[in-house]
Amino acid sequence: MSRPISVLVHIDAMRHNVALVRKAAGSRTLWAVVKANAYGHGLENAVSGFAEADGLAMLEASEARRARAAGWQKRLLMLEGFFDAADALELEALGAEPVIHSRWQIELLKSMPHSAFRVHVKINSGMNRLGFQPAESAQVISELRSIPGVEVLDAVTHFANAELPFENASAASVSTQLRQMQPIAEREELCMANSAAGLMQPAVAGNGLRAGIALYGISPSSDVSSHELGLKPAMTLSADIIALRSVARGGAVGYGSRWTAQKDSRIAVVACGYADGYPRSMPDGAPVWVEGQIAPIAGAVSMDMLTIDVTHIPQAQIGSRVELWGEHICVNDLARRCGTIGYELLCAVASRVPVSSN
Ligand SMILES: *Cc1c(COP(=O)(O)O)cnc(C)c1O
Repeated sequence: MSRPISVLVHIDAMRHNVALVRKAAGSRTLWAVVKANAYGHGLENAVSGFAEADGLAMLEASEARRARAAGWQKRLLMLEGFFDAADALELEALGAEPVIHSRWQIELLKSMPHSAFRVHVKINSGMNRLGFQPAESAQVISELRSIPGVEVLDAVTHFANAELPFENASAASVSTQLRQMQPIAEREELCMANSAAGLMQPAVAGNGLRAGIALYGISPSSDVSSHELGLKPAMTLSADIIALRSVARGGAVGYGSRWTAQKDSRIAVVACGYADGYPRSMPDGAPVWVEGQIAPIAGAVSMDMLTIDVTHIPQAQIGSRVELWGEHICVNDLARRCGTIGYELLCAVASRVPVSSN
């Protein structure tokens, strides 16, 4: 038997989440964002779970190739465009639509022949990461339109604080960023919303919605639960108990002896460690789900194992399945405990963890 750890991806949950986000999208094009191996869920699973989306959004030509090979015939949006000439050539052949964010990409487009290359133009509306300034957008778009075989479909931008209130004190609130886009809205279609904006910012309109995290069933905001939004988590990470021991009061568990038994305790060793993607920074007390109950992490997470306190769960035995996150254990809650966001935990699941779907 192989090491008892696995990711189970729930295709039904993905379909449910697409239908829910579709309602929020209204008439907008719904792009399902599948970068980073579909946030750790496996690109092929996403192709099947997101079949009802209008397009897939991703980063790499290799992902676009994989999506086509898995049978995806609808649109493909390349969120960072192409990275070099060979990349551009392959994307055009695959019928993928790159986002053009920098001057060097325009020059590269000019240097190549095109039959039909549909592109999107990225505008920097306040995030100061990728994109052209609003003031140069008209010039950039007309320059792109003058390249034979290149068609500009819309202007895209990305929000820095979509999960915060519409108006807020940050330098780039949704309200400020929308104001930056206003002059462009008069000339072009706009594609702006991510999950948070799509679900929580009714003022953000446009012709497209690029949803990632919500389609995987995870709330884009730590202030609102997935359940409250009606989302169903699509990933369950679980591993088995492979050893059990008694630790007498005063005994310590694991590296650094971080956790010490306040009373005689029963400790279970679970076949999941930080080399599987479970954060080493997880503190004592973080929950796992075993035999229908919560058990707390007890001791530092090792590379290949972690330890939990099952003193109060006599049913926990060798071979008991432990949910690290999924339906009962919210990945956002875990992420908060170790100072990150659910996105990072999902994406960090290691390639040595087998992924299957149901
Ligand atoms: C990742 C990404 C998204 C999706 O964001 P979520 O918060 O996961 O919905 C949308 N747009 C761009 C440009 C992205 O990079």
